[in-house]
Amino acid sequence: MHETRHGVALPETPREFGFFINGGWRGDRDLFERNSPSHDIPVTRTSRCTPEDVNDAVAAAREAFEDRRWSGLAGGARAAVLLRAAEGIRQRREEIATWEVLENGKPISQARGEIDHCVACFETAAGAARLLHGESFNNLGDSLFGMVLREPVGVVGLITPWNFPFLILCERVPFILASGCTLVVKPSEMTSATTLILADILAGAGLPAGVYNVVTGTGSSIGRALTEHPDVDMLSFTGSTAVGRSCVRASADSNLKKLGLELGGKNPIIVFADANLEDAADGVAFGISFNTGQCCVSSSRLIVERSVAEKFENLLAEKMKKIRVGDPFDPQTQVGAITTAAQNDTILNYIAKGKAEGARVVVGGNALQCGGGRFIAPTLFSGVTPSMTIAREEIFGPVLSSFHFDTLDEAIAMANDTVYGLAASVWSRNINHALDVTRRVRAGRFWVNTIMAGGPETPTGGFKQSGWGRETGLLGVEEYTQAKSVHIDTGERSHWISS
Ligand code: NAD
Repeated sequence: MHETRHGVALPETPREFGFFINGGWRGDRDLFERNSPSHDIPVTRTSRCTPEDVNDAVAAAREAFEDRRWSGLAGGARAAVLLRAAEGIRQRREEIATWEVLENGKPISQARGEIDHCVACFETAAGAARLLHGESFNNLGDSLFGMVLREPVGVVGLITPWNFPFLILCERVPFILASGCTLVVKPSEMTSATTLILADILAGAGLPAGVYNVVTGTGSSIGRALTEHPDVDMLSFTGSTAVGRSCVRASADSNLKKLGLELGGKNPIIVFADANLEDAADGVAFGISFNTGQCCVSSSRLIVERSVAEKFENLLAEKMKKIRVGDPFDPQTQVGAITTAAQNDTILNYIAKGKAEGARVVVGGNALQCGGGRFIAPTLFSGVTPSMTIAREEIFGPVLSSFHFDTLDEAIAMANDTVYGLAASVWSRNINHALDVTRRVRAGRFWVNTIMAGGPETPTGGFKQSGWGRETGLLGVEEYTQAKSVHIDTGERSHWISS
């Protein structure tokens, strides 16, 4: 028996998962073994599916879509399944949280909060399933009536990353289901457990067979097969910008499938001298350290007014030193482990590059020993110039770069000086400044005097190279539909060919 961590027994042997096609579990494939990033013991084994398994899964989703077993139901009937699934997630909250911690390394308190958000996603999407409707045009004259029907796009391929395995899944799946689509999911090979647990929950909630299918394996094999598949109508991809580009190419080279892309970010957080600096420093520390900075909307560029820059950086450094990094099963832990060995190397390389290019470490800048896993101290770099590597590239770790500005225009120009446009935040007591910045900085999500607030009611997604399309909210359901314009002649036909 492995030791118990804060009341949780680490698994003695890895939990083994099959994969899920057409309402049934399959197995008997080579297995991928995953070690806990915080404890370095094997925790799960998942199947290395084959491209033929992808074909089977897409065929099952296609059949389930074409015979209308799901899309043909009333929105209310789909909503009932989604609400039962929400309840199923609620009941298995501890189990899901535990596997998120074991595969991803995030703190248990955070994992529980994310699962509550996932329940809210299912509840919101259930409402949307009932309310999804088209438009009518009663203004085309007495002899013509117009409608715009919203129809499900068809079979959706869904590829998710390892940083929020369950949360990103649940910000998409219920909205896809609300629209009437069927789907094939490919989770990250690092964190597949909770995507497979959701298959069990959805089946228990009464989702018909073939509507939700899961194939597991690597991106280069299984993910790619899904992006290239000619019978997938839409692909929703969340992950790196590099793979996002390959999804665009695969779509162009196969069937021009519709794409939804949520990609990288290099998100600005602007602090004016008139802000409540204590609040802002707390927000900045949270924005860069949450989920160890392995977060697409992490605020990784601090843009602070020069007159308070030194004072603010010192205040921030004091706060960052107090962040509790360590075993994610400790309920007091605020920052857990770095999820993959490759990402750990990437972050440490960026820290080394920041030092080599002349930026000054104010706090952090090093790996931490906290038991058997991989941990990095929340890090603040000052004296960063716009051309430095750490100023431009997404680090995807707890590493913050600080820049100083003198005027509002300069702050906005710095915030927009990136190829990305996922999220941004501004801190000021001057409503005119806050609103000016909100209107002129190009980002899909914006926070004023707060950071990472909000629920599944509002849409998420990026400007520029941060992606295409929107997830969650009503837009997140419409994204998975096609609009069909219909015209009905209600009058006498004025003949084209004279009799
Ligand atoms: P990744 O792009 O390497 O992998 C994401 C998913 O794509 C995984 O399931 C992976 O197996 C799969 N994949 C990899 N290569 C593929 C290929 N050639 N074809 C098809 N699928 C493939 O990203 P990651 O390392 O898992 O996550 C980190 C990155 O994701 C960061 O750059 C981050 O910004 C981004 N991200 C963005 C958001 C967002 O909402 N915008 C959310 C989370 C992560």
